[in-house]
Amino acid sequence: MREKVVAGNWKMNTTLDEGKQLASEINELVNEKAAGDVRVIVAPPFVHLPEVATVVNRDKVQVSAQNCASEEKGAFTGEVSAAMVKSTGAEYTILGHSERRALYHEDDEVLLKKVNQALSNDLKIIFCIGEVLEEREAGKQAEVVQSQLENVLFRLSEEDFRKVMIAYEPVWAIGTGKTATPDQAQEMHEYIRKLVADKYSQEVAEDTSILYGGSCKSSNAKEIFANKDVDGGLIGGASLKPKDFLGIINSY
Ligand code: PEP
Repeated sequence: MREKVVAGNWKMNTTLDEGKQLASEINELVNEKAAGDVRVIVAPPFVHLPEVATVVNRDKVQVSAQNCASEEKGAFTGEVSAAMVKSTGAEYTILGHSERRALYHEDDEVLLKKVNQALSNDLKIIFCIGEVLEEREAGKQAEVVQSQLENVLFRLSEEDFRKVMIAYEPVWAIGTGKTATPDQAQEMHEYIRKLVADKYSQEVAEDTSILYGGSCKSSNAKEIFANKDVDGGLIGGASLKPKDFLGIINSY
């Protein structure tokens, strides 16, 4: 059975003290008020990971990095390896976020290396895919996500693929206040699940969590999460506000 997941991507926000405070407020709210069996994940900046991992009750709130290096170790100034991430207590890493793809030119080849680094270091992965506005307007969204999956995740064995969850994030909806309609989200999630079934099996597809990301808020999460193929959300802006984040978690 696949998990319901709400993950907060803090991006490049919060100083260390602010991050600890935010993590502790989220932790308190989740421990006291989160309903149901939703897996809650927070993804602070790298430098906060060890502290955040000690602030939260990791039975309830798990910790993710937002990225990791494509190489194992060595002369890669400024990079943070998957082993380093794992050593902080983090259990996940986000990979393939559209900001990394667009601003730091991360292509499928680099992403495959990152995915393999993460898996070799026992990190689970939240892998982001999604089309930009021009591709949506040209009706190419299905073809874009198919190629993003085929060039990276579908190169994994079934055993490794099972350690990955997919975040469908239409890039035109990220940080723009524009959300995909529930129907648009469901259509893409259903399509992605079908691709997984065709590549691996129906059973693997049924077990894969597919999250929606893109201007998800407590006011719109309920109708998006109500779709049968939407298994939760990857949340940017609203994950920095503990009550809004809790509202999204409790939208199930
Ligand atoms: C994201 O960055 O993954 C995201 C979904 O951001 P936002 O919720 O702010 O659109």
